[in-house]
Amino acid sequence: MKTPQACRILICGAGIIGITLARELISRGLEDITLIEAEAALGAHSSGRNSGVLHSGIYYAPESVRAKTCLEGNRLLRAWCEEKGLPLAVTGKVIVARREEELISMENLRRRAESNGATVRVVDEKELREIEPLARTVGNMALYSPETAVLDPKATLESLTQDCLAGKKARLLYNTRFTGLKDPRVAKTTGGDIAFSYFINTAGPFSDVVAHAFGLGRHYALIPFKGIYQEFASPHAAQVRGNIYPVPDPRNPFLGVHFTRSISGRVYVGPTAIPAFSRLNYKIISDICLREVPSVIHAVFMMFTRNPGFRAIALSEPRKYFSRFFHADAQELVRQLAPQEILPCSKVGLRHQLVDTRDWTMVMDFLAERDERSFHVLNAISPGFTSSMALAKHMAETILPHL
Ligand SMILES: Cc1cc2nc3c(=O)[nH]c(=O)nc-3n(C[C@H](O)[C@H](O)[C@H](O)COP(=O)(O)OP(=O)(O)OC[C@H]3O[C@@H](n4cnc5c(N)ncnc54)[C@H](O)[C@@H]3O)c2cc1C
Repeated sequence: MKTPQACRILICGAGIIGITLARELISRGLEDITLIEAEAALGAHSSGRNSGVLHSGIYYAPESVRAKTCLEGNRLLRAWCEEKGLPLAVTGKVIVARREEELISMENLRRRAESNGATVRVVDEKELREIEPLARTVGNMALYSPETAVLDPKATLESLTQDCLAGKKARLLYNTRFTGLKDPRVAKTTGGDIAFSYFINTAGPFSDVVAHAFGLGRHYALIPFKGIYQEFASPHAAQVRGNIYPVPDPRNPFLGVHFTRSISGRVYVGPTAIPAFSRLNYKIISDICLREVPSVIHAVFMMFTRNPGFRAIALSEPRKYFSRFFHADAQELVRQLAPQEILPCSKVGLRHQLVDTRDWTMVMDFLAERDERSFHVLNAISPGFTSSMALAKHMAETILPHL
């Protein structure tokens, strides 16, 4: 093996997308891979802070990469957890209607799920109660997805990382941030320069910035959205068996505040999708990166003025900082929920949504750009965790001819 300062493939970002792609490349005979990770530990961002839900391919447009990889990814990760004895519970999901108008969308969702090969079933209120005793719906109709599961995202990421590094074909350098290019095939990092033959950008919250250093992704920018959770902390929570979701607004990429019995047994409500001020702005104010604020505000302003779907999110979501509004959303999904039963908790994540700055639209699918020396994953939105192992196969097919 060469020294850590030169490698064949340099992967920037050791989240679930970078790790599963490294494993996939190794399984296809590649070696001399260096992964660099800006943080000191795994799962510091989306891959360790998500809902832990293995989605089952219901929502996504049939021709999209999300649709093509979600269900297969669900099955691959389930098999991985079973093989390694990792926490996994196939708890299922119900999607309920809050208003009569949503019944048409629910029927569209059912058709879409079926064309994606997902297993879904329409259930009436009686059956809904048997599956999820607390859930409520209108129109005597809900959708049930038995293949939805929950896992421990950090434990899963750690196990996949161990597997990736075990054969010594890849190495992982923590506390090593990519800061730019020194030469066309030499990366500057906080741990020194690293020469590479091929570069893969899986830098999640900074993937647009990294792509820009290569002259790619010029028409795209990421906007951070804060996903705040609260906890359903009352004896009633025992009656939430799996996942209770609303019918989503098809204009936006977020699924709406929902109930999830996590693998730890705690029942979370959320996440929100509140525009944040900077890419790692998990707290309210104290961790805002002032350098990033002007570009984020510019993008939010342009989206707000040009994009009605985004405007609806920007006007409605920030209210959820106030418990009254958060609870009102939650109460639409279940019966008998008193405000004091849902409590603030420390769980929070940041979702980075790619926008196309040519027409200020939100990019609704996974998106990658490449040139002869690099490949950039620009929009690893939900269900990125679920899809990861299948997406890695899909990306490897594109990358291999260039290696
Ligand atoms: C609140 C929330 C809930 C979600 N719920 C679900 C769910 O239930 N199911 C599901 O399937 N998906 C869910 N998702 C989506 C899923 O978590 C993401 O799609 C997935 O984790 C993206 O993985 P990633 O590897 O691209 O990103 P990340 O996990 O962010 O990894 C990128 C890594 O790159 C590193 N990095 C960044 N810049 C640099 C640099 N310059 N140099 C070196 N390293 C760098 C970062 O430190 C980070 O570790 C959710 C996301 C959020 C935020």
